[in-house]
Amino acid sequence: MLADFSYEEMKIYAKVKNLPTFRGEQIFEAILGAKTLEEISNIPNALKEQIREDYPDYKIEGVFESKDGTKKYIISYPDGNIVESVLMKYKYGYTVCLSTQVGCRMGCKFCASTLNGLVRNLTAGEILGQALLINRELGGTKKNRMITNIVLMGSGEPLDNYDNVCKFIDLVSSQRGLNVSQRNISLSTCGLVDKIDLLAEKKYNITLTISLHSTTDEKRREIMPIANRYSIKEIISACKRYYEKTGRRIYFEYTLIKGVNDSEKDVERLSSMLRGFNCHVNIIPLNSVKERNLIGTTRLEAYKFSDKLNEKKISATVRRTMGEDIEGACGQLRNKILKGG
Ligand code: SAH
Repeated sequence: MLADFSYEEMKIYAKVKNLPTFRGEQIFEAILGAKTLEEISNIPNALKEQIREDYPDYKIEGVFESKDGTKKYIISYPDGNIVESVLMKYKYGYTVCLSTQVGCRMGCKFCASTLNGLVRNLTAGEILGQALLINRELGGTKKNRMITNIVLMGSGEPLDNYDNVCKFIDLVSSQRGLNVSQRNISLSTCGLVDKIDLLAEKKYNITLTISLHSTTDEKRREIMPIANRYSIKEIISACKRYYEKTGRRIYFEYTLIKGVNDSEKDVERLSSMLRGFNCHVNIIPLNSVKERNLIGTTRLEAYKFSDKLNEKKISATVRRTMGEDIEGACGQLRNKILKGG
């Protein structure tokens, strides 16, 4: 699929197809503008037919808008699969939250994306397509890009789709492409230690975010099966190695679940585990998922938890929760649609 190609690769494609270089450039630009094949005006119809099977055919199937302005897009691929992407408006611009897989096989108990397991990986171009479609929806172009920030926090585990996600980062941050600064890209992972070490070697300027959600391995295993593979200690060590290699501050996500990970002891353990490490903790009250019996704390409780961490000199803030009325958390809306609910 042509959205998987870098500018250089598109030139090779043009060559293989016996097309002049400028045709490759035109196709590349059309893809960046999220144009459909029909909408391209500077390419003859015969050529369109020649590239039809390779040309991206993802589209926005539906948009759900929250009272707070957050929008959730349902994006479909030609094989019939759908994913969700979320658009959030902040003071400094637009952040898009992209999916990296259809479904997920990590099995976190509180996460709706993983309820039916992994369906398939998305290719780099399919991940990019979400950003391109939304940028176009916002009236943006390549030159006049509307999207400022990208978070890989939609459905899927980015490091479980490592090669495609790295390729996506290369594509979206390339000057020829959307040219999004790597500093404005966050990758969120449940903590695949071997892949964190691999990613460190890439020396990207992206922000690595770890979904920690627990302060003991025992509790973590109850809510996140990945904890059977890697201990919290191993994850923190990998984060420290990542920081050494890249100089990028690590972010931790800590979703507060009532009665599970919100105790005084949790504050103590979390602060002693992170003390002296250049990192930041994002506290998020759990978006309760009806299918599971896990309940989020109130925002007030989240603020208290965060304050206690601050008192212990740990940098922490409560993340704004957005789009709750449109099933804002990962995979919630897709599940509803699949079930016809
Ligand atoms: N697999 C990656 C990225 C996708 S999940 C990861 O684990 O980080 C993105 C973030 O949303 C993670 O921190 C995840 O733990 C969190 N999340 C999932 N379900 C949630 C829910 N119901 N309420 C609040 N946060 C949730």
